[in-house]
Parts: sequence; structure tokens; C-alpha cells
Amino acid sequence: MSQVEKPARYIGGELGAQAPVHGDGSAAWLLIYPDTYEIGLPNQGLQILYEILNERDDAVAERAYAPWVDMEAAMRAAGLPLFSLENHLSARDFDVLAFNLSAELVYTNVLNLIDLAGVPVRAAERTGHDPLVVAGGHCAFNPEPLADFVDCFVLGDGEEAVGEMNAVIAAWKVACGPVAGDPTEAPPDRTALLRSLAQLDGVYVPSCYEARYHGGVEPATHAVLPRLAGTSPRFPGIPDRVEKRTIADLGEWPYPRQQLVPLIEVVHDRLNVELFRGCTRGCRFCQAGMITRPVRERPAEQVRTMVMDGLARTGYDEVALTSLSSADYSGIEDTVTSIIEDPSCSGQVSVSLPSLRVDAFTVATAAQIQRVRRTGLTFAPEGGTWRMRQVINKLIREEDLYAAVDAAFSQGWKRVKLYFLIGLPTETDEDTLGIVALAKQCVAIGKRYHKGVTVTASVGGFVPKVQTPFQWFGQNTIEELTRKVHLLRDAARPVRGLTVRWHDPKATAAEGVVSRGDRRMGAVIEQVWRRGGTFQEWTEYFDLSLWTEALADHGMSLEDTVYRHRTEDEALPWDHLSAGLHRDFLWQDWLDALAQHGLPDCRWTPCYDCGACTGFGIEHVVASAVPPAGGSQGTGQDLSTGGQVPVRFLTTVPSGAVSAPGPGEDAVACVVAPVGEGSS
Ligand code: SF4
Repeated sequence: MSQVEKPARYIGGELGAQAPVHGDGSAAWLLIYPDTYEIGLPNQGLQILYEILNERDDAVAERAYAPWVDMEAAMRAAGLPLFSLENHLSARDFDVLAFNLSAELVYTNVLNLIDLAGVPVRAAERTGHDPLVVAGGHCAFNPEPLADFVDCFVLGDGEEAVGEMNAVIAAWKVACGPVAGDPTEAPPDRTALLRSLAQLDGVYVPSCYEARYHGGVEPATHAVLPRLAGTSPRFPGIPDRVEKRTIADLGEWPYPRQQLVPLIEVVHDRLNVELFRGCTRGCRFCQAGMITRPVRERPAEQVRTMVMDGLARTGYDEVALTSLSSADYSGIEDTVTSIIEDPSCSGQVSVSLPSLRVDAFTVATAAQIQRVRRTGLTFAPEGGTWRMRQVINKLIREEDLYAAVDAAFSQGWKRVKLYFLIGLPTETDEDTLGIVALAKQCVAIGKRYHKGVTVTASVGGFVPKVQTPFQWFGQNTIEELTRKVHLLRDAARPVRGLTVRWHDPKATAAEGVVSRGDRRMGAVIEQVWRRGGTFQEWTEYFDLSLWTEALADHGMSLEDTVYRHRTEDEALPWDHLSAGLHRDFLWQDWLDALAQHGLPDCRWTPCYDCGACTGFGIEHVVASAVPPAGGSQGTGQDLSTGGQVPVRFLTTVPSGAVSAPGPGEDAVACVVAPVGEGSS
């Protein structure tokens, strides 16, 4: 351990870590985040399942993260397998290896970790002696690229599904007796276990389904290619379509109760409390918003309790109230105010609101006005022109952005970061250059208040995601994205105070390979991994040539898999899986996008039957009957113009607690997740 970087990544022992005691009647889960400890530890999904499983009598759960390259080399040299952080057990000793899939470029790490565990990488080669390999997370909505390697996927919320799966696995383990783990005995048949799991709602077992192909034409070479005809069950009793799981009431799941506090610095190193799940703003590029509908808000009182208990237990002096659009939480102003004014916080705690919209800046201001000390103030207009923002249904007016930026600079902030996407459907050069125009105006606003203001425009290449209206769109080529980056760079060069940063278009293309791939993509991922392509979401290890060579070796190309527009009647690899959204709703929304029609937020306006609630008999759950400040689409905004949106400061903070950033201070507590941006 003394020879590797950051040994604390591998030792466990954090505040909040559990000490699971394994027993014959329990199913043992190893929850694995396929990236480094620093990226994986804060993952709330993993921490929630960790607690839920360890609370059960018939389950134990431990954790593992991807060892960094130096540690992996040392482990392989010493013949050490992947091991758990809690009891330092070999991964092979667990009944389940459960992966969190939150980004596509980690797929090669998944294969690497299965291999490092000493488990056959291909599911078909595993026996009853091997752990079950399970995966969940947002990427599970197109699981087909990993169908050859993962035994089963969980779609949607895992809180209930994990318990149901555990009951099946624990019963199978008891029924098989010690033979399941005794390599000297003939292995038990896993088929019955997999078929039982496939009966559970929200659980998809790829080996129970067959992908059928017919001929298609490769765009570049005109060669005839296999093209998906459909995916259907191989056995009677297996559902034709797997629907996602949705917990109806977030208030019943106040997890994590004991958030882990790492021993070394990690990303999002703060207390995190989830405000709500789901988003109905309807940004068309945003997979997270589409697949997590409907909105389910946590009761405000529970939020306050989780915050106060969490702060007291962890010692953190910062809490993030998390969701996909935190300022949309109804009653957000009261919630934030009650936290920062609580006597136990005594002006020492900052509240941050990740994923902040500019048209709800009032609340963010209240949050930041406390002792802010972190990254720059960040907004995500996503599109450079109003036309572009109508296409993507992110209906933020320029005036909204300028008012928010003005408010920030006037209060002492000197650095603002803006997130944008390029390569969006129907994008013209005018839209692309609109990014610089917006950012330039923000610099000008800042200069009214300070000399040394900086505005950074961070630009990601758009990757169409499954279960969104843009799932049919052919992604921009590497060359086209590069051209647009150069347009931006050249236009920004003369603007003092403006910096443009961009995501590598090559990595955007590789992400596109996996995002909408079918089962044939498994061979590509495996080849990239076998040729050393791990940590592909890390710039220093990403290598596009590994991906293009693997595609070519398996008769595929970027043109066919990434750049090609899909047609309405084309069978899609995820058609047999449902995030609740009707396919005809998504297609109509795609047509609306092309026609530049916005769609209101259905939380406060009538339902337009996307399927997320109507199909499951559930509804939005809101904590307050009052819409949030700043105006939601459909509440404060006129969709044809963007409408008037108030921007004002709250005056609820005691004057002594106000602390604008001083010189050199890295101020600000709110960060916008660049949804849809690449993952490096
Ligand atoms: S079913 Fe209706 S109310 Fe529910 S998310 Fe869809 S449009 Fe909104």
C-alpha cells in the first residue's frame, strides 16, 4: 500500500461505514462503483442501497471502487483479487457484484473489475459457483451493450427492487446449500435463479431475451449490415417489456441516514440531502429528467431533519440540497431559510443548490449568501440562442440569464461559469456563436462592478440519450464538433475576461458509440478493455483509436452507430424496456423540437400524458401547494417569449451572517450539473 497513490482509497473505515457480519442465511452484496474512490464514494444511490441492504436480516453489503492503475498493477502482480473495503474480503466471496452505471465510458472498467474479481467476464461462462453480476443506474435504460457481461439489470428506483432481489437470491442460496460456494462440488444451475429474477418488476435479465437482426445498409460503405429487428423473450413467462420501478413516496425512504464521510478529499465533499426525484421541466436533451418522472418531493420537515441530523453527525459545514433542479422544490425558500437560521448552524453552515436554473436565482442567492467558499457560480443556459433553447425546451430568456449574472456580480462574485451544449439538433452557426455573444454580455455586466471578472463558457458535445425525444437524432461528427469548437474559440479570443473550455469531441463520439449501441457493441467494449482501454472517461487514458479499431474489427463504424439518424419505424435496442414514457409521446416531442415548440412543466399545468404517471397510476408528490419562486414553465413564463421572471434577493439572512467572497476566495456554493455533457 505504501507504493500506491492515495492508499486511503482502499482501506475503508470512514465515518458511516458499516461492519457487516456475513452468515449462511444472508446474501452478500458487493456494491461497486466502477470509477475511482473519489468519484464513487459520494454516489448517493450506492450509499442508499448499502444502508437498505445492511438493515435487512437476510443481507449484508460492502463496497468497492475501481482501483487506480497503480493499485491494479500491484494487485495483479501480487495475485490479489478485487476486495471489499469493510472486511477486505475477496470479491469472489460475495453472492452479488452490483455495479452502479452512471456513465457509459466506465463500461470497460466494469469488465475489468469483474475480471479482477476472478469471475468470468462473459455471463454465459459463469456457473452457480460465481457471483451474480447486477447493474443499475441511469445507463441501465440501454443495457444492451453490456448484455453479454451482466446477469441482470434493475431499471429505475432501486430501494424496493433490491429487497425483492435479495429475497430471491438468499432463498436460492439456502436451497443450494454450501454447494453454491464450494468449487469442489458440481455447481448449481443458475438458470432457475435468473428466471426467478426476471419475474420481478423492473428486473431485466438479458439472457432471457433474444435480439433479432435483419439486413441494413452501412451509410459510408453501403455494405449490408445486421440491423436490429426487435428484442423479445426467449421463454414463456418472461415479460415482453420490462417497466422501470418507481417508488411512489420518497418520504418513506429517508436514506442515506448515515452518509459516509471520507478520509480523503472526494468530489461533492459535503452532506447531501435529496430534495426530490424526477423533473418535469422537459429539457429534451436530458435523460435524467425524462427517466425519473414523476416528481416526488421529500416532505419539507423530513428534509430539515435529515439536514440537521446529518450535519450534527458528520461535522460537515456545507449541505447540498440535491435534485435535478433544486430551486424547483416547492417551498424551497422556507426550507433553505429554516436551515440557515437554525440556531445550531449559528451562521457557520452553507447551503448549496446544485442544478440551479437562472430563472430561479432568488433562492440560490439566499443559499449562497451564507459562508460560501467553493467553486465558481455556475449557470447552464445550454443553448446560445432563444431559438436553440426552444428546440431543447430549456426556456431561459437572455434577460433571465443577464439578471441572474448581474445579481451575482453586484453581490461580489467575480467569476461565473456557463454551461452549453454544441451539436444539438437543428443547430446553426448562429446558434453556436450565440454562446460567445451571451458570455460576452455577461463579461460586460461583470465589468460594471469589478475589473477582474472572468466568465468561463464550458462547452460539451451533445450525445443523444435513450428514452429522450432526441434518441432518434444522429450525433454531430468529430469533425463538425471540432469545427464548432474552433468557431467558438476564434470568436472568444478578442474578448478579455472570457474563456472557452470544451469537452474533447473524440470522447463525445466514443460516448455515443455506447449510448445507443445494441448487443453487438459488447464485442467492441470487450476488445477495448482487452487492449488496455480502462478509465476511458479520464482524459489521460482515453484513446479513440481503440474504439474505432474495435468497431471496424466487428464490422461497424461511427457513421452507422453514432452519426446516423434513426427513423420512426426503426427498432431500437431499448424498445423492450420502459422508463414509463410512451414512444409516441417521445416521437411527438421530437417533432415539436424540430418545430421549435416548447412544452410546459406539467407539475403545475395539466398532464399531457407522457406515460410516466398515467401508466403507473401515480402522481407528482409536492411538498407545498405553492409553485416555486422564479416561475416554472407554465407558471410564470409565457412560452412564446420566455415571459417575465422575477429576480430578487431574499432578505431573510441575518446581516451578521452575510459573507460575500473576498479577494482570492473561491466563492460560491451552487453548481449546475452539466447534464448531457461528456463525463471527463
Ligand atoms: S404523465 Fe402527465 S403529469 Fe405525469 S410526468 Fe407525464 S405529462 Fe407530467
